Amino acid sequence: MIPVTKPYLPPIEKYQKYVEGIYQRQWLTNNGPLVNEFELQLKDYLEQNHLLYVSNGTIALQIAIKALKLKGEIITTPFSYVATTSSIVWEGCTPVYVDIDEGTLNIDPKKIEDAITGKTSAILATHCFGNACDIDAIDGIAKKHNLKVIYDAAHCFGTQYKGKSIFGYGDISTCSLHATKLMHSIEGGLVVTKDPDLLKRMAYMRNFGHDGPEKFNGVGINAKNSEFHAAMGLAVLDDIKVILERRREQSKYYDEKLSNLEVKYQKIQEQCDFNFAYYPIVFKSEEICLATKKGLEINEIFPRRYFYPSLSKLEYVGTQSVASSNSISKRILCLPVFHTLSKEEQDMVCRILLRIQNN
Ligand SMILES: *Cc1c(COP(=O)(O)O)cnc(C)c1O
Repeated sequence: MIPVTKPYLPPIEKYQKYVEGIYQRQWLTNNGPLVNEFELQLKDYLEQNHLLYVSNGTIALQIAIKALKLKGEIITTPFSYVATTSSIVWEGCTPVYVDIDEGTLNIDPKKIEDAITGKTSAILATHCFGNACDIDAIDGIAKKHNLKVIYDAAHCFGTQYKGKSIFGYGDISTCSLHATKLMHSIEGGLVVTKDPDLLKRMAYMRNFGHDGPEKFNGVGINAKNSEFHAAMGLAVLDDIKVILERRREQSKYYDEKLSNLEVKYQKIQEQCDFNFAYYPIVFKSEEICLATKKGLEINEIFPRRYFYPSLSKLEYVGTQSVASSNSISKRILCLPVFHTLSKEEQDMVCRILLRIQNN
């Protein structure tokens, strides 16, 4: 069986060593030493001055929206994981979809200005599959219209834009460190910002608003993460170079082997140093896409329809017309990529894909 992804598991001794320390200190959660150490190492790796480790990538988005005090309408992409939209709705705002570019699969900045109204407070864009948005265009529009920008960088660990970590862009960038992501801590997330005041506000929010044991600074929630999660995060981060390198090799191998497959690939944004987190392929029609998926599944290979359905189809949002997102959603598959995927397994995936096509 070849699933679309498998979590990376670091050497168990490494994790155990951290766990022994936790047992000795008997400090399990509430901003413990491993959480602090993990944040320090992440800041160093991502070359950022301010970030917070939180319990998941969804709460990261919700805290970002709340900390920026967003109201009314938020312009967003219909082609993302559901958490991008659900966070907007959860925080009492209205998602307004702007269609994607069919090449990059990211929000099309040329269409953003038409969607701005007197109620628009922000743009929340996903760097889809680890591919940078057209950041310059988005930030330009935001500045002109006095809008905040949040980047959902859940897929982006290791991605650089213009030679810098992609987490340095926008008012806030968020990340998911969920087990299925390239870099993970079982469950986990990050909020990253350049603004120290914003960071402070988010730090209060992460811990119920506590400002000491008997005082509160604003409304908060519990978005803390545990020492055990930080331990896994530290152990995985230790291997991040090898993880990223292997993803690149696997991606190049698919490129080679699938050169005769009649599909389109994601167009990587200029000046984006991509992390190869996912391997999406776009078919000519939904029919071919579904037949291919079925053919792979018969052979115990399980690609996923990321992202189907287009978020513009969500019942709780109401229909908005975004033709490219609807069309791409129906025709896209993400092929298996994970650290332990072997060349032989990739060969098998490719052989079957080509056989299905040529039948
Ligand atoms: C995974 C993901 C999230 C949610 O992250 P969790 O850590 O699972 O809560 C948000 N946005 C995108 C684009 C994702 O892929």
